[in-house]
Amino acid sequence: MFDIDNIRNDFPILKQIVNEKPLIYFDSGATSQKPQVVIDSLKHFYTNSNSNVHRGIHTLGDRATIAYENSRNKLANFINAQAKEIVWTKGATESLNLLAHGLSNILKPGDVILISALEHHANIVPWQQLCANTGAILKVIPLDESSQAIELNTAQQLIDLHKPKILSISHASNALGNIQPITDIIKYSKKYKTVTVIDGAQAFMHLRPDMITLDCDFYVFSAHKALGPTGLGGLYGKYEQLNALPVYQTGGEMIKSVSFEETVFAQAPGKFEAGTPNISGVIAFGCAIDYMNKIDFSEQKAYENELFVYLQQQLENISGIELYGDLVQNIGTISFNYKKEHPFDIATLLDQYGIAVRVGSHCTQPLMKSLNIDGTVRISLAFYNTKNEIQQFITHLKQCLSLLD
Ligand code: PMP
Repeated sequence: MFDIDNIRNDFPILKQIVNEKPLIYFDSGATSQKPQVVIDSLKHFYTNSNSNVHRGIHTLGDRATIAYENSRNKLANFINAQAKEIVWTKGATESLNLLAHGLSNILKPGDVILISALEHHANIVPWQQLCANTGAILKVIPLDESSQAIELNTAQQLIDLHKPKILSISHASNALGNIQPITDIIKYSKKYKTVTVIDGAQAFMHLRPDMITLDCDFYVFSAHKALGPTGLGGLYGKYEQLNALPVYQTGGEMIKSVSFEETVFAQAPGKFEAGTPNISGVIAFGCAIDYMNKIDFSEQKAYENELFVYLQQQLENISGIELYGDLVQNIGTISFNYKKEHPFDIATLLDQYGIAVRVGSHCTQPLMKSLNIDGTVRISLAFYNTKNEIQQFITHLKQCLSLLD
């Protein structure tokens, strides 16, 4: 049985009182909360093992290196990949920049990079820059007006039309929660040997992606959206393709040998990890993965879905509320507006009740434009939320809306 009381006990921040009310944290899409084991791991590292990795002959150096590489193994097992296929980065943003930089040599002027209308700015701007530098053209799979989702057949038509060199699409939308039909899209784009990049920042914790099943070339994510510390993320790449990418940043750690005449780079993943990495973060993220592994995934999914359906029904019962996005294939994120009220006003009032939601354009300005809105109020749930929190939220939301009417 999915034991929500035990789970909540593992997240100390959830016990907090905010504005004299128990915190209701509905902003896990921005960053997830961290279980005690992750917090303890950071303290434990600096108390007992603090040392640099891949350098020391001494005991602490060894300890740090073993724990650091062990986290890579844990992540590899978690996503069904090999450790050498995983690069630690600062986050999904850095992983996407690394790819946009590294894939420049496969492009010539006129080649197409295909993305979707639901992308976060982190999966738009690096490709735009790459187009500006190479003469490639950015094309977008549009949002279907009625479903407010990317339709597979539209994606397939555009893949046939453009034969893109690169396709970069989110596994799940941060603004609307839509789970995108990426497995079919990846499969279809093999027809043209398109390099497939998946932005898994939102999906990672909710969907636990499997690299063999997905069969994409690259997958990026952020640790902080999956119970881990901030300032850390990852890039998965099929080894041959990963290793073939040119180096991104240069300096110490990423080399095999250096003379004043010439440098020989290390093989992947080392060649993409220049400088001292986020050692404590990587080790703590290993603990986050252990934590996720202890939760039965099918129970987690069922529980998250129950919360989502309940929230959706409750919101639909409030007249004047408009919900956006795919409300069936969804990671547990709902965006809404109330009449013509500014989302910011709603969130400010909710904060008085200790309720944390996100408002604005969610770093998806082009998506907001497609929806003809400036922004939304976004609730992004996680498995540590409860039905009771949703009830509290709905009660207070109604109070807030009555003040605005
Ligand atoms: N892609 C998506 C879908 C996201 O939600 C985010 C973060 N909101 C990012 C990329 C960027 O992640 P980070 O800020 O951790 O680099």
